[in-house]
Amino acid sequence: MLHKITSLTVRDVRFPTSLEQHGSDAMHTDPDYSVAYVVLDTDCGLKGFGLTFTVGKGTEIVVCAVEAVAGLVVGKSLQEIVSDFRGFYRLLTSDGQMRWLGPEKGVIHLAIAAVLNAVWDLWARAEGKPLWKLLVDMDPKQIVSCIDFRYITDALTEEEAVEILVKAQEGKQRREEHMLKEGYPAYTTSCAWLGYSDQLLKQLCTDALKSGWTKFKVKVGADLEDDKRRCRLMRQMIGPDNTLMIDANQRWDVAEAISWVSSLAEFKPLWVEEPTSPDDILGHAAISKALAPLGIGVATGEQCHNRVMFKQFLQASALQFVQIDSCRLGSVNENLAVLLMAHKFQVPVCPHAGGVGLCELVQHLILFDYICVSGSLGNRMCEYVDHLHEHFTSPVVIHDAHYMPPKDPGYSCEMLESSVQSHQYPEGDVWTRPAAGTEKKSK
Ligand SMILES: [Mg+2]
Repeated sequence: MLHKITSLTVRDVRFPTSLEQHGSDAMHTDPDYSVAYVVLDTDCGLKGFGLTFTVGKGTEIVVCAVEAVAGLVVGKSLQEIVSDFRGFYRLLTSDGQMRWLGPEKGVIHLAIAAVLNAVWDLWARAEGKPLWKLLVDMDPKQIVSCIDFRYITDALTEEEAVEILVKAQEGKQRREEHMLKEGYPAYTTSCAWLGYSDQLLKQLCTDALKSGWTKFKVKVGADLEDDKRRCRLMRQMIGPDNTLMIDANQRWDVAEAISWVSSLAEFKPLWVEEPTSPDDILGHAAISKALAPLGIGVATGEQCHNRVMFKQFLQASALQFVQIDSCRLGSVNENLAVLLMAHKFQVPVCPHAGGVGLCELVQHLILFDYICVSGSLGNRMCEYVDHLHEHFTSPVVIHDAHYMPPKDPGYSCEMLESSVQSHQYPEGDVWTRPAAGTEKKSK
């Protein structure tokens, strides 16, 4: 069967999470978690589902960008695409006219991520495997053939990438079995969103500890005295041996980041995440250097545009934790490049997740990283946020604070049709029915 793609539909789906301050941080004070949701139809009835994540307003712009690239996908067969996936990636990212909108960054790149995520989902479904297993079963040359090495060969060549993957074949089977049995270690961000009260934070923390969580992240950056109080409270709750991370979501200038985080050093955070502009590579390098003596690393990546930026962060020793994102980069193809570069530079990958569907997607990539690239769990963990999983047909399974490997074929981002319809913006029930005295922020 050819699996010829006959149509691409995209919908604007939004969840009113701002009503309860879920997801709130120092810069995104009232996010309505949203997705541009893509469905590919094929001539044989198989479908591919993909999405990219946004925080509310402007999702319609991403939808429009997806529609702009749809013509490059519809009419192609899955076989045609995956037999030259590098070429197809470049077709989407380097269209002679549309690349002016990026290139490989911003709205157009988010849109391409949604489309490519759907193509990968379709491929995994056609093979009857969860996406992580599709990747694990590929031979090194085939994996590398999906990556566009343009702009990164000064840091990682195709030959080096193959070498890394070949070397990691040893012990692969054992690591796959380990993951199937134990799962991949996770940390939680659900306890300490910036808009949560101390009482709610304490309650959520107590519940999380009871469920086996040992690694926690706190949002910081709005007010230093508040941050000290919240970090102290969190440290008291979790004890001296559990892991604490702090996340400023790009709030500070470089010098401010250094002094602010130094004031929080007594709470022993493992890392500070996004201390400053996500584009400021040299700023991150300066912060990394200043915080190293305090034992605090710098983590970033959820708004890192592309593999070229990650390359420079790594070359400049500007981060100590690489936070890949399944919807910011150009899907699996570009994430593979970053995983391999991170391995070469010996920097652990700790993916960004949460939002809508990000946990469902990125778990596949980090499983692949452990089984086929890094072979290590040292200083590695995947973010987890306990919101909105009920809207997916194959939601993540967390057991004892570990992601259990998905078993269903695909990339785990198919949503329940009833959820899509009721949350479609602006016509879905959630957005049109009288809202019991609440204000919907997205509009
Ligand atoms: Mg973050």
